[in-house]
Amino acid sequence: MLYQDILDRIHAEIVPTLPQGRVADYIPQLACVDERKFGMALYDVDGHFASVGDADERFSIQSISKAFTLTQAMRTADEQLWQRVGREPSGSSFNSLVQLEYENGIPRNPFINAGALVVTDIVLSQLGDAKVALRDFARRLSGAEDVDYDLTVAGSEARLGYRNAALAYFLKSFGNLENHPDAVLDAYFHHCSLAMSCRELAKSFMYLARHGANSDGEVITPSQAKSINSLMLTCGTYDAVGAFAYSVGLPAKSGVGGGIVAVMPGRFSLCVWAPGLDNRGNSLAGSQALERFATWTGESIF
Ligand code: GLN
Repeated sequence: MLYQDILDRIHAEIVPTLPQGRVADYIPQLACVDERKFGMALYDVDGHFASVGDADERFSIQSISKAFTLTQAMRTADEQLWQRVGREPSGSSFNSLVQLEYENGIPRNPFINAGALVVTDIVLSQLGDAKVALRDFARRLSGAEDVDYDLTVAGSEARLGYRNAALAYFLKSFGNLENHPDAVLDAYFHHCSLAMSCRELAKSFMYLARHGANSDGEVITPSQAKSINSLMLTCGTYDAVGAFAYSVGLPAKSGVGGGIVAVMPGRFSLCVWAPGLDNRGNSLAGSQALERFATWTGESIF
C-alpha cells in the first residue's frame, strides 16, 4: 500500500477546507494557533513511514494524553481502576458535571475529563510524581528525549480550568479521589499541555498497533492493548464517537489541540493534526482526513 500517495491526495483535498473549523478558545495559547496548520504521519508494523504537511510541528496534545495515563494506570492498577471508572460511552460533553452527579461520582469512562482525573489520581498514588512519570513515558514511546510540557499552556489550564476544578472537587466529595484535588488537577493540566508532533504521536501509539509491544519490548499485555483500542473506539472521540466509528471505523483518541491518533491493530498508527474543531471538540479537517484515509485504503477494523 502506497500510504505516501494517499496522504498527499488527502493533503491536497483537505487544505482548502481548513478555515471551516474553529480553534479551541478556552485558553489564549490554543486560540492563537494558526487554523491553516495540517499534518499527518503514519508508521506501519513493517517499519514504513509516511507523512505530509506540518507533521513535525509540535502541538498541544490535550486529551490524547488520556490514552497515555490510562495505559500507565492499567500497568500498575488494572483491577482497582475499573471499580472507580466505567467503560461506557458518555453521550454527554467531555466535561459534563450533571452525569457525574446522577452516577454517584463514577465517571462513565477514562476518556472524559472526570474519568481522566480519576485515572490521574491512580497514577499519582502508584507512581508518586505523575508529571515526571508521564513525560518520561511519552519520551520513551516517541523516542524523542526532548518531548516536554508546555508550561505556559499548563499554567493557563490551571488558571482558567474552573470546570475541571469543579469536577475534581466533586469527585473528591464522592470519595473517588485519594489525593487532594489540587494535586490531581496539577498533574492533569500538565498532561494536557504535553507538546508533541504527528510523527512523535504516531510512533508513540505503535504499541497499540503491535498488540501491546513497541520496538523495545512489552508496554502492556496484548489483552490490555485490545481493551484500550476498544475503549478508544467506543469513547475516544467524545460524544461524536458513534458518527466517528461509522465514518472512520478505527479506534482513535482526539484532543482539543486538534490532534487525532487512530490505530489499526496489527497494521499501523496514524496521527492527524488540524487545529480547527467541530462543535463536539474533535478536529473537523482531521476527522475528514481520517474518513478519506479509511475509505481510500479500505483499512478499518470492520
Ligand atoms: N485541557 C482540556 C480540558 O481539560 C482537554 C480536553 C480535551 O482535549 N477534550 O478541558
